[in-house]
Amino acid sequence: MINVQQLRDRAKELLESGEVKYVFGWRKGTFWYQSPPVIISKAEDADKLIWDEFCLNNLSKYLLDYKNLDGKIAIFVKGCDSRGVNRLIQDQQVKRESVVLIGLPCPGMKDPQLAREMGESKLNEVPKIEKCAQCLTPNPVEYDELMGDEVAAGLAVEERFVRVQDLESKSADEKYEFWQQQYDKCIRCFACRNVCPACNCRECCFDQSEPEWLGKRVVTAENQFFALTRAMHVAGRCIECGECERVCPMDIPIMSLNKKIIKDINGLFGEYDAGVNVEDKPPLGRFDENDPEEFM
Ligand code: SF4
Ligand code: SF4
Ligand code: SF4
Repeated sequence: MINVQQLRDRAKELLESGEVKYVFGWRKGTFWYQSPPVIISKAEDADKLIWDEFCLNNLSKYLLDYKNLDGKIAIFVKGCDSRGVNRLIQDQQVKRESVVLIGLPCPGMKDPQLAREMGESKLNEVPKIEKCAQCLTPNPVEYDELMGDEVAAGLAVEERFVRVQDLESKSADEKYEFWQQQYDKCIRCFACRNVCPACNCRECCFDQSEPEWLGKRVVTAENQFFALTRAMHVAGRCIECGECERVCPMDIPIMSLNKKIIKDINGLFGEYDAGVNVEDKPPLGRFDENDPEEFM
């Protein structure tokens, strides 16, 4: 069991000693079912930190905003945050020595939308949010110090791709129709990209105007180009945190696309879990003479 006071005391200590300049964690939001991220720089603000059923945001992406900082950052990491940090380290966006990782074994977070509908009195009955129900690594995979005891392993490996089985049973035309319907809903708010630790290019191709890869019109062809380009950019690098799908305001099942690609890459190049081991090179980022090449 993680004691919130322990979390606050450690943050205070790190800031007071000057060992770190910032601490990334979560605070209580406006509503009881929200615990958004908070970045603190003063020891007296450490009491804002909390740890509860709604600390679901992956904090790793915020490191990008501080990548040129002269000093260290302490960041609380659940399993998904730690894989996100590893993603950024592998992509050379963050240096391992510039972060202090405080591991928090994660029991799985609750669904804030359902919590709002069910009411605070039924908090215990609120189910896990989908990203946590699908989580393979609830324990931090990388940390400098760990608070609390490790929790039981996450989703069983054989359950990992269950949600793509339906899709795989469809014909090519049915698949096209399914994804067209889904991505016709896309309003190109870019929330999925903005929250994603694997989307960490200095300048995203979707923001470029010279050349303009992606037109401004929100129409089928442009939406499909956006969806496929992003899916391919994170192929073999997606850490399966589920943040893209969680933040999508149009309820597009983005993780079905990601998981299908992960499944196919694993089938072609062997089992690989992005962000779990920082030393393991992504399958699409290395060459092996025995790589399958029947498509060449
Ligand atoms: S994805 Fe895993 S580590 Fe992240 S909040 Fe959910 S259960 Fe915790
Ligand atoms: S979050 Fe959803 S609606 Fe927004 S750009 Fe991504 S897929 Fe489209
Ligand atoms: S594509 Fe989605 S699941 Fe994969 S790393 Fe990005 S936000 Fe996480």
